[in-house]
Amino acid sequence: MTEALDRQALASLLHRRELRRLLEVFNDAAEETRIVGGAVRNALLRRPVTEVDCTTTMLPDAIMGRAKRAGFKAVPTGIEHGTITVIVDGEPFEITTLREDVETDGRRAVVHFGRDFVRDAKRRDFTINALSLGLDGQLYDYTGGAADLAARRVRFIGEARTRIREDYLRIMRFFRFHAEYAQGDPDPEGLAASGTERQGLAILSKERIRHELLKLLVAKRAEETIRVLADHGFLTGLLGGIAEFGRFDRVTADDRDNPVPIWRLAALAVMVEEDAERLREQLRLSNDEHRKLAAFAGLLNLLKTCASPLDAGAIRRLVAGHEPDALGIVLAATAGEPSPVVNKEAREALTRYRNGTEPVPVFPLRGADLIEGGVPKGPKIGTILARARQAWLAEGCRTDAEYARGLLNRVMEQA
Ligand code: ATP
Ligand code: MG
Repeated sequence: MTEALDRQALASLLHRRELRRLLEVFNDAAEETRIVGGAVRNALLRRPVTEVDCTTTMLPDAIMGRAKRAGFKAVPTGIEHGTITVIVDGEPFEITTLREDVETDGRRAVVHFGRDFVRDAKRRDFTINALSLGLDGQLYDYTGGAADLAARRVRFIGEARTRIREDYLRIMRFFRFHAEYAQGDPDPEGLAASGTERQGLAILSKERIRHELLKLLVAKRAEETIRVLADHGFLTGLLGGIAEFGRFDRVTADDRDNPVPIWRLAALAVMVEEDAERLREQLRLSNDEHRKLAAFAGLLNLLKTCASPLDAGAIRRLVAGHEPDALGIVLAATAGEPSPVVNKEAREALTRYRNGTEPVPVFPLRGADLIEGGVPKGPKIGTILARARQAWLAEGCRTDAEYARGLLNRVMEQA
C-alpha cells in the first residue's frame, strides 16, 4: 500500500521563520546548505518535525564564523565530526559539513569533509533518511528514498550486508526505523543481512545499543517488531533474558498516547528484581531508570500477596509507598492475568493519583513530632515511626490534622 507524500509540507517547512533565516544566511553563490534526513522524511509523511538537521558545503570554522557574524549563537557540539549547533531566536539547528567515509571498522567511521551532496547521501543508512531539501524547495533524492518512503519501506542504501559491516548499529537502526515508518514485513535483504551479521552487535558500546533499543520500544509498530527480533534470534541477546510479550502488548495498548521507553522495557523484560539488575548493566541504565525497573519488579512481587480484587483503599495504600506510575504500569501489564483483579473504583482512583487530581497520601508524622512530644532522640524514634506508619496504612492513609493528632497521641502513649 502506498500513500502519497506531502510535498506541500516541504514548502511549509521552508516557511518556518527561524529555519528560513538560517538557510538564507548559509546559502550564497559559493556555499550551499540544505535540510537533510529526518526533517525532510517526517515532513513528507506529515509527521511532526521537532529537530532540523542541515548539511553544508562550509567547513566547521566557517560555519562558526558566519553564524556569529549573523548574530546567531553557535556551539561547537561535535566539531570533530563537523557538527555545529546554531541557535536562531532560541531554536537550535545542527549544521554538519558534508562528509564521506574513508574508513570504517564496524563501529565508527573516519570521515573526510567534502563538498559533494551525493557522497554525503550515500554514506547514510537508509534511503528514507538520505533525502535533502534546498532553500529553493528542491527535493534531492539520490537513492530512491522518496519511492521507498511512499511505499513505507525501510531499505539500506547500497548492499545491506556491506553497510551493516561498516557500522553494526545499523542492524538496530534497521529494526527501529522499520518499526516507526514501515508497513508490511521488513525488507527481506535487510532482514537477512541483519541475521547474518548479528554477531557484530557484540562489538558495539552498550550505550549505542540502548539508545536504539529504547527508541524501538516506543515506535509505532513496536509490538510486531519485537516479535520479529525474537523470531530471528536477536531479542534474548539484547535483553540478556526472556521476554513477556503479553505484558508488553497490554502496556503498549494502554500507554499509546504517552509511551515511556523505560516502562515499556519493564513490561517486556522485568519479571523479578534480578532482571532490573541485569538490565542496568546490560544497557548501562541510569540510576533513575534502574530504580523504575526495580520498582516494577517490587510491585509485581508485592501484588502477589495483596488480597484480590484490589479496591480503592488498596490503591491508596499502594500509592502511599510506591510511585503511582509504576503501579499503573504494573496493573496495565498484568491486566490479562488471573491476579490481581482490580475493580473499577480502584482504577479510577489510580487514574486520579497518576494525573494529580488527587494527592498521593503522605504519612503525616515526622521524627520531630515525637521529639517535641518528649521521646528522646535516638533509634527508638525510627521504630515508633515505623509502627505508626503501619497503623496509618491499615487505617486508610488519612492525612487530615485531626487524624494525625490522634495517631501522635496513640504512639506517644505506647512509647
Ligand atoms: P529521529 O527522528 O529518530 O532522530 P533521524 O533521521 O534524525 O530520526 P538520527 O539517528 O538522529 O535519525 O540520525 C540523523 C541522520 O543521520 C539519519 O537520518 C541518517 O541519515 C544519518 N545517520 C545516523 N546514524 C547513522 C548510521 N549509524 N549510519 C548511517 N547514517 C546514519
Ligand atoms: Mg535525529
